[in-house]
Amino acid sequence: MILLDGKALSNLVKDELKIEVEKLKSKGIRPPHLAAILVGEDRASQSYVRGKMKSCERIGFGSSLFKYDEALTEKELLKKIEELNKDEEIDGFIVQLPLPSHIKENKVIEAVSPEKDVDGFHPINIGRMAKNMDALLPATPNGILEIIKHYKIETSGKHCVVVGRSNIVGMPMSILMGRKNYPGDCTVTLVHSRTRNIKEICQTADILIAAIGKAYFVTEDMVKEEAIVIDVGINALDDPSSEKGYKLVGDVDFDKLASKCSYITPVPGGVGAMTIASLLQNTMTAAKKRRM
Ligand code: NDP
Repeated sequence: MILLDGKALSNLVKDELKIEVEKLKSKGIRPPHLAAILVGEDRASQSYVRGKMKSCERIGFGSSLFKYDEALTEKELLKKIEELNKDEEIDGFIVQLPLPSHIKENKVIEAVSPEKDVDGFHPINIGRMAKNMDALLPATPNGILEIIKHYKIETSGKHCVVVGRSNIVGMPMSILMGRKNYPGDCTVTLVHSRTRNIKEICQTADILIAAIGKAYFVTEDMVKEEAIVIDVGINALDDPSSEKGYKLVGDVDFDKLASKCSYITPVPGGVGAMTIASLLQNTMTAAKKRRM
C-alpha cells in the first residue's frame, strides 16, 4: 500500500509557487493577490479561511480578508463582490461557503467574475471544465487530480466510483474523471443518497473517491483488493483523549481497509492539504491570465 501524502505534495506546490513569486518580483511584477469574504461565525469556515490567508503569506502572495457579521444582506454581499470584480489589485477571490440561509448561494457564485473565480464554482468555469476547455477548476477536485498525477497513477479505462454529488466536490470530480484526458478516461459511476446497492457498486471500483461527510462510511467490505481510495471527508469525532477534545477522521475506515488498497489518502494530511495548494495555483493562473 502506498500512502498518498497530500501534505508533502502541497508543500512542494507551495514551494514552487514561492519560487515563481520571487521570479515575478525580480522582474518588477506584483505577486498575485487573493481575497476572501467570510460571512458569519462558523468555526470551521473561520479556520479554513485563516489557513488560506496564512498560506498566501507563506508564499509571498498578497491577501485580504473581508469579514462580515451574519446579518449582512444579500444585496450588501453582491455589492462587495462587484467591488472586488473591478478591483485591479485583486487577482482572485473566494466567498467562503456555507453562507447564512438568507443569502442565495447560486446568486453569489454567479456574481463572481469567472476570471477571478479561483474556487472554480462559477457556471462558466464548470461548463468549460465539462467541455474539457481551459478553466479555473474547483480546488478540491483539482487537488485530487494533482495527487493522481504526482503519483503517476494510471486512470485510463478504470472504473471510478465517486460517492457524493455536491457541487463543490462530487459532481465536478465525476466530470473530471470521465474527461478525455489524463487524469481521466475513466468509466465513472456517481452515487449518492438515493442510490441503491452502494456497497455492491463500490466493490467494483478501481478508484473510489468518497465525499459525503459521514465518518467511516466506506468500510472494508466495500472495497476490492488493490483499489485506489481517495478520502475527501473531514469529520470531527469526540475524542476526550485529545487536547482539542475531538479528532478529524475521513469518510473511509482507514485503519481497517488501508492494507487492502494499492494507494490511499490519509485524513488529515491527504486531500484537505492539497485543496489550499490548488486554490493558490488557481490564483497564480488567474493573475497570469489577467495581467502577465
Ligand atoms: P455535501 O453535504 O454537500 O454533499 C454530500 C453528498 O453525499 C451528497 O451528494 C449526498 O447525497 C451524499 N450522501 C450523504 N449521505 C449519503 C449516504 N448515506 N449514502 C450515499 N450518499 C450520501 O458535502 P461536501 O461534498 O461539501 O463534503 C463532503 C465531505 O468532504 C465533508 O466531510 C466535507 O467536510 C469534506 N470536504 C473536504 C474538503 C477538503 O478540502 N478535503 C473540501 C470540501 C469538503 P444527496 O445529494 O443525495 O443528498
